[in-house]
Amino acid sequence: MEIERAKRLAALPPYLFAEIDRLKNEVKARGVDVVDLGVGDPDLPTPDHIIERLAQEARNPAHHRYPSYVGMREFRAEAAKWIEARFGVSFDPDTEVLALIGSKEGVFHLPLGFVNPGDVVLIPNPGYPVYRAGTLFADGEPYDMPLLEENGFLPSLDEIDSDAARRAKMMWINYPNNPTSAVATREFFEMAVDFAGRHGVILCHDMAYSEVSYDGFRPVSIMEIDGARDVAIEFHSLSKTYNMTGWRIAYAVGNPEIVSGLGAVKTNVDSGVFEAVQCAAIEALRCPQSVIQQTLDVYQQRRDILCDGLREAGWNVEKPKAGFFVWTRTPGGRDCREVASTLLNEAGLVVTPGVGFGKYGEGYIRMSLTVDTARLEEAVARFKKARL
Ligand SMILES: *Cc1c(COP(=O)(O)O)cnc(C)c1O
Repeated sequence: MEIERAKRLAALPPYLFAEIDRLKNEVKARGVDVVDLGVGDPDLPTPDHIIERLAQEARNPAHHRYPSYVGMREFRAEAAKWIEARFGVSFDPDTEVLALIGSKEGVFHLPLGFVNPGDVVLIPNPGYPVYRAGTLFADGEPYDMPLLEENGFLPSLDEIDSDAARRAKMMWINYPNNPTSAVATREFFEMAVDFAGRHGVILCHDMAYSEVSYDGFRPVSIMEIDGARDVAIEFHSLSKTYNMTGWRIAYAVGNPEIVSGLGAVKTNVDSGVFEAVQCAAIEALRCPQSVIQQTLDVYQQRRDILCDGLREAGWNVEKPKAGFFVWTRTPGGRDCREVASTLLNEAGLVVTPGVGFGKYGEGYIRMSLTVDTARLEEAVARFKKARL
C-alpha cells in the first residue's frame, strides 16, 4: 500500500533543525568535540522546591484522575495573582485564564478556534515556527511581517498590505523575541492594539521570555495597554522562567471570548495538565521569585563572555537586553547556511542559521546562552581562530 501524507504536512516549510542535527551528528561521528550553540532549551535545573512539590503531589491519588480541561481553579487563581503582581493587570481566573500544556500547545491550537479557510494570519518573519504551522493546519493564509534590524526588529504595521489587513483574523507578536532577542516598547504595543481594534484582528502576544532580561530592563505586557482586553490574548510559560521546559505547563490570559474559544478547541484535543504538575507550578509562581534572578545572573555572565569574545574576534555584536539568544549579522552579511556550515566543519561550532526562522532571517545567525561558561570560552577561542 502506498501511504500518502496529507497535503497540509507537505505544505509545511522544510524543518531546517533536523538537517542541522544530521550535520552535527556527522561531524561528531568523526570524533570532533562539538560546541553546540544551537539549542534553545535551558541547561540549568528546575529549582528544588518545585521538584519537591511535584514529588509530594504525585503521591496524592486525587491527582491521578483526569484533570479539569481549563486547569485547576487554584492554578488559574495563582497565575492571575502572579500576573497582577508583575504587570498590575487583573484577570478573572474563571473566564480570563486558561492552563496550557506548554505555550506551544496553545499557540498551535488558537487558529483552529478562530481561522476559517483563507483567513489571513499576520506572522513575524523571522519568527517562532509554530505561528506558521498552526496557521497552515487551520487552512489559514500566513502573511509575513518582516522584522528588520533598522526597525529594531519590530514589524512596520503601516506597511501591511491593505488587502491582507482586511482579510486578517489574527496577528502574532513575540517580545522579548525569539530569535532576534529584540524587545518592544510600550508605544509599539499601543500601535498594535490600535491596529487590531481598527481591523478586527485578534492580537496574540507570545511572552515566553517575559522574565528573561538583563541590565535592569523589565519587559512590558501587552495587557498593560488600554484597550488590550478587547482584542488580545497573551501566552505565558513556566518553561523559560523556572527552567521547566520538560514539564509542559503554561497559561494564557486575556479577552474572555478568545480564551474560551481556545478552551473549546482544547476540550476536543486534550484532557489537561497532570494536577501534580499544576501544583508544582503553583509552587513556582507563589515562592520568592529570587530564583529567577539566580538564573539571569548565569545567563548575563554567559552573554558577556560570548559577546565580548565575539567582538574581540571582529564580529559586530550587540548584547541582547532580553532572551537567551545572541542574534547577529554574519560577517559581511554572507549566506547564513554557508557560515553555519563553515563554523561546524572548520571549528566544531553549531550555530542556527537565521533563515531557519524565515526568509528575513537570511544574513543572520542565532547563538544560544544555554551552555556553561567553560564551553562558551571554548566557543570564543574557536571563533577567534575560525577563518570565515
Ligand atoms: C520556548 C518558546 C515557546 C514555548 O514554550 P513552551 O511553554 O515550553 O511550549 C513559545 N514561544 C517562543 C517564542 C519560545 O521561544
